[in-house]
Amino acid sequence: MSICYLNGAFLELDKASISPLDRGFLFGDSVYEVIAAYKKNLFKIDDHLDRLEKNLKSLSINIDLDNLEIESIVRKVCEKNSEENQIIYLQISRGVEAIRNHIPREDTEPTIFICSFELKNLPSENNDSIKAVLNPDIRWKKSSIKSNSLLANVLYKMQANDAGYDELLMSDNGFLTEGAVSNVFCVKKNKVFTPPLESNILPGVTRKIIIEIIRELNLSYEEAKIDEEFLFDSDELWITNTTKGILPVIELNKKKIGDGTKGEIYRSIMKAFLKKIEESII
Ligand code: PLP
Repeated sequence: MSICYLNGAFLELDKASISPLDRGFLFGDSVYEVIAAYKKNLFKIDDHLDRLEKNLKSLSINIDLDNLEIESIVRKVCEKNSEENQIIYLQISRGVEAIRNHIPREDTEPTIFICSFELKNLPSENNDSIKAVLNPDIRWKKSSIKSNSLLANVLYKMQANDAGYDELLMSDNGFLTEGAVSNVFCVKKNKVFTPPLESNILPGVTRKIIIEIIRELNLSYEEAKIDEEFLFDSDELWITNTTKGILPVIELNKKKIGDGTKGEIYRSIMKAFLKKIEESII
């Protein structure tokens, strides 16, 4: 049984429980982070904690812990679990209140929960390519917040899974936003494109690393609105997130992307990404 952290205590996951009056359950009034640990080293923890801090601030959720204290707790959860490679979920809700009310009380104590699972299928140059489907983006206008209100994303993933797709990409008014659980990059004529952060997307930690790599490799790059015609006509298409790293999309709506194989630019970015993981391991 894995060890988790709940409101100040480390305990076995099956012993952890929270009240049904928790605002995370009642209203989705909560945010989260997903952090990868490779060989027990937390990958890009500072970026995750920076994003968490911004998210908490934007929802006026105040916690007693600073980033160093949160990092130390996440590290302890990682150490207390035996798996070498882990995917760690850090969930913070506004907390439990005795009476259900949309308007929160000022003295409510946030619920802080951290759990870990084995990270399987590590990023690798031999990763499988995936197939995706494009749908209209039906989400709210604050998708930059990593909120637990994930109903649209859950419905999208169910729909994609039922239809045999690995991921669902979204477009708003004809322009690509992101995937149901990922950011998206495409390549056209050796230039890499991704939608800007102003497109109602999550500022992905993996997205940020990839932009760093693109600069280090001196690749041609632009953050730009990507219309559907451009998307379907791209030479390469990738999705990115903490759990999967970078995965090439070789089919969108059953239409082949590029020549239907992993692209050259994907391969060079992936190589550099794996090097960054290697360098993070001490
Ligand atoms: N966009 C959405 C909607 C996501 O759910 C995720 C990750 O789960 C991402 C983007 C990628 O974010 P990150 O690279 O920080 O995992």
